[in-house]
Amino acid sequence: YLAKRERHAVRRFQADLGAAALERLELEQALRVGIDRQELRLYYQPIVQARSLELVALEALVRWQHPTLGLLPPGRFIPVAETSDLIVRLGDWVLREACRQLREWRAQWPGLCMTVNVAPRQFARPGFAASVRALLAEYALDPDALILEVTEGAVMAEDGTPHEAAMAGTGLNLALDDFGTGYSSISRLHRLPAQWLKMDRSLIQDQGEPEGGRSSRPIVRALITFAHEAGLKVVAEGVERPEQLRELQDWGCDLIQGYLIARPAPPEALDLHGLFYPAPLTR
Ligand code: C2E
Ligand code: MG
Ligand code: MG
Ligand code: MG
Repeated sequence: YLAKRERHAVRRFQADLGAAALERLELEQALRVGIDRQELRLYYQPIVQARSLELVALEALVRWQHPTLGLLPPGRFIPVAETSDLIVRLGDWVLREACRQLREWRAQWPGLCMTVNVAPRQFARPGFAASVRALLAEYALDPDALILEVTEGAVMAEDGTPHEAAMAGTGLNLALDDFGTGYSSISRLHRLPAQWLKMDRSLIQDQGEPEGGRSSRPIVRALITFAHEAGLKVVAEGVERPEQLRELQDWGCDLIQGYLIARPAPPEALDLHGLFYPAPLTR
C-alpha cells in the first residue's frame, strides 16, 4: 500500500514539475514575443542626496505591459529571463532605452545620471563593457552619466578578487546592488571595483525604530563607515519613513532612494521639476 502511495506521489511530483517547466517555457516564449512587440516599459525612481534631497540619478526599473495580464513587475519575469540568453536581449533593450531617455532629460538637466540593473549573465558576456561604451558614444553621453547596478556575485570571484570583466570595464561606473543580502563581506569592501554601495532595503527596515536586540542598525552604521574608508558612496534603498531618513542623514549616508522620496514612475508621470535640481555626479 505504501509503495503504491509513494509511486503515486512520485508521479504527482513529476507532473507538477512538468507543469512548472511548461509554465516557464511558455512565459519565456511570451516574453520573447513581448520584447519584439515592444511591450517592455521603463519606470524610473529618483536617487537623491541624503542631506539636500537634490536629485542625483534615476534608477531604470523594467516592467512588462502584458496584453492580458497587465503591468508585470520584474520579479515575475526577470528570473525566467535570467535562465537563458533572453536576459541579454532584455538587458540590451533596457540599456538602450535608458540611454535614449537620459539623453533627452540631460538636455534639460545636464548633471542628471541614470542607473541600470545588469544581470550577472549579461555582465559576464565578452565585450559587454565595450558595447556599453559604444552605446554611450552613440547617444553622446558622458560615461559618468551612467552607473551599472550589479550584484556582488557578478563582479567578485569566490576568492574575493574582482572578476576580469569588472576590471576590463574601466571607465564605467558600477554600483553594488542589494548589499547586505547573501554573503556580503565588509572585509572585501576595499577591493570592490565599484563607486557606489547600495544597502538593501532589508537592512534599512529597522532604521529609525527603537533599538532592539536583533536590530541591523549597528551594521548599517558600520557599513557606512567602512564604505567611506574604501572610497565608496553609500546609497540606502527602500527608505519609507522620515525617521529612517533622519538617522541615515545623521550617520553620513550619501544617497537615498525609496517611497519616501518617490515611487518608480513612467517618464510621463515623473515630475523632475518637482524634484530638486540635480547636483553634479559623485566621484
Ligand atoms: P533592485 O534593483 O534592488 O530595485 C529596487 C526595488 O525596490 C524596485 O523593485 C523598487 O520599486 C523597490 N523599492 C524602491 N523603494 C522602495 C521602498 O521604499 N519600499 C519598497 N517596499 N520597495 C521599494 P522592482 O521595480 O519591482 O524591481 C525588483 C528587482 O528587479 C530590482 O531590484 C532588480 O534586481 C530587478 N530589475 C529591475 N529592472 C531590471 C532590469 O532592467 N534588468 C535586470 N537584470 N533586473 C532588473
Ligand atoms: Mg537596482
Ligand atoms: Mg537594489
Ligand atoms: Mg534591493
